[in-house]
Amino acid sequence: MKAFERVAMLGIGLINGSLAAVLRRQGAAGEIVAHARQEQTRTRAVELGLCDRAEADPAVAVAGADLVVLGVPPAAVGAVAAAMRPGLSAEAIVTDVSSIKAQVVRDVVPHLPAPSRFVPGHPVAGTEHSGPDAAFATLFERRRCILTPIEDTDPLAVERVREMWELAGSSVDTMTPEHHDRVLAITSHLPHLIAYTIVGTVADLEDQARTEVFKYAAGGFTDFTRIAASDPVMWRDVLLGNREAVLEMLGRFTEDMVALQRAIRWGDGESLFELFERTRAIRRGVIEAGQAYVRRPQGSAKT
Ligand code: NAP
Repeated sequence: MKAFERVAMLGIGLINGSLAAVLRRQGAAGEIVAHARQEQTRTRAVELGLCDRAEADPAVAVAGADLVVLGVPPAAVGAVAAAMRPGLSAEAIVTDVSSIKAQVVRDVVPHLPAPSRFVPGHPVAGTEHSGPDAAFATLFERRRCILTPIEDTDPLAVERVREMWELAGSSVDTMTPEHHDRVLAITSHLPHLIAYTIVGTVADLEDQARTEVFKYAAGGFTDFTRIAASDPVMWRDVLLGNREAVLEMLGRFTEDMVALQRAIRWGDGESLFELFERTRAIRRGVIEAGQAYVRRPQGSAKT
């Protein structure tokens, strides 16, 4: 892969920090400059060696960069894109890592001098941890990364971003932003919503019952608590930013839950067994697609 001379990481948390670690390890960036709002984030990113310097002003961070990666919470991407505008070169490739795509495209494009250089992206890899300390260079290995080029995107820019994610160990797919949002609504956004709901329901139980849930939490509930520990800001932004697709999937899910409720009420074991057999086959499919394995002791919460 042809190295980038200067990469600007706008946001330097779990995802951009991990990508910076990959670029460093592979010698794929001459210089890495980060931006974060808080001084402690900037100091920590430099201490961890994720970047050469960190700037408070996005426009200063992107000056002279040939690659810019937007890695802030989804609802903040538009404002950061506007703030970087004065320093951005029209030649720079701009990409992002947000978990939702259509809204991000709408929010970012108006601020770009050259929309043809914009390659929206989403690495489908992550953990429930946040900030630069959570970053690690193997995060993207054997994961998928989805690029959602817009009509104007220059294919050469797409190729360079694809090469970068392949260097990080990911398989890269391309699709439209809208298609991405529908697929992720069911594979990621709805499961997170369910986890937040179950853990919230338990939190509302009276003290005695709640203590026992914690004491006897078996695999199922423990897994839900891990997913429900995911970053609140990011997930608020994801669910509101992809509201149409999420509401559609939630509607289907609610209907299926009611059907299950009826099957249990009427002692309809056949329906339950049939469903559980089908879902077991889906688990095998997920394993065969290489999307189910544990990378670190704490597991991973892909978004
Ligand atoms: P993170 O670890 O919390 O890092 C976010 C970074 O953005 C930090 O450097 C933070 O530093 C900065 N930031 C936060 N709010 C900001 C704002 N309003 N304006 C400007 N900067 C802000 O988050 P992350 O998990 O890396 O997520 C970043 C992006 O990756 C999100 O768009 C998310 O959808 C996407 N993503 C996440 C995962 C996952 O599992 N976590 C997976 C795939 C994609 P300061 O607070 O100091 O500014």
